[in-house]
Amino acid sequence: MSVKTSSGRTREENRKSLRRGRFGDTLVNRAGTVSKQASVLLKNNGRAPNIQQIVKHLLRLLGEDPDRSGLRETPERVAEALTFFTKGYQQDIDQLLNGALFPMEYDEMVIVRDIDFFSLCEHHLLPFFGKCHVGYIPNKRVVGLSKIPRVVDVFSRRLQVQERLTVQIAETLQTKLKPHGVGVVMEAQHLCMMMRGVEKQNTLAVTSEMLGVFRNQQQTRDEFLKLIRSGRSEVR
Ligand SMILES: [Zn+2]
Repeated sequence: MSVKTSSGRTREENRKSLRRGRFGDTLVNRAGTVSKQASVLLKNNGRAPNIQQIVKHLLRLLGEDPDRSGLRETPERVAEALTFFTKGYQQDIDQLLNGALFPMEYDEMVIVRDIDFFSLCEHHLLPFFGKCHVGYIPNKRVVGLSKIPRVVDVFSRRLQVQERLTVQIAETLQTKLKPHGVGVVMEAQHLCMMMRGVEKQNTLAVTSEMLGVFRNQQQTRDEFLKLIRSGRSEVR
């Protein structure tokens, strides 16, 4: 008996297509998405070779010849690049901040602005990138200033949406530092917007997350927004 599945293919065809998957029989579901189990395997043992094989296959699906000279090294390069772009999954915030929190009686606003960040949008796996501005008002302890861009990096180097990235940075600092408040503003250009669909070249997506006094006190929030904009020539 031939049973058609929702994709219109028979079970047998589906099983064949699953078997054709180079990443193991049961790891790719019918929609062709790599299961959680597969993504764990890709991340851990032999991660790079697996991504290479997938990229080679992808090149074929795009109508290319992965064996022509210009593309021969491409799967390896893409695997390396993707591993780098998602290295935030392997990084641990507690380890990063370990030994970088200092007791200090300072309760004025601390701002680190114009932090460059690069991330991949989880909808298209295309880059979005821009500037991140972080402010907080310490409550008896501060964090080494260089650690703030590192925190931004840990969460940027994952598949993201800008809104969640902004919230994760703010909440992490709020949880680890326990300050009076945290403000995070991110301004980014998304290649998925610029290269496809709306094709708006100069659109800037701005997201913000305000916690504690940055949320409750208009004056604090205004001061933060003023300070991250001061000295800029462009109108934002
Ligand atoms: Zn996108």
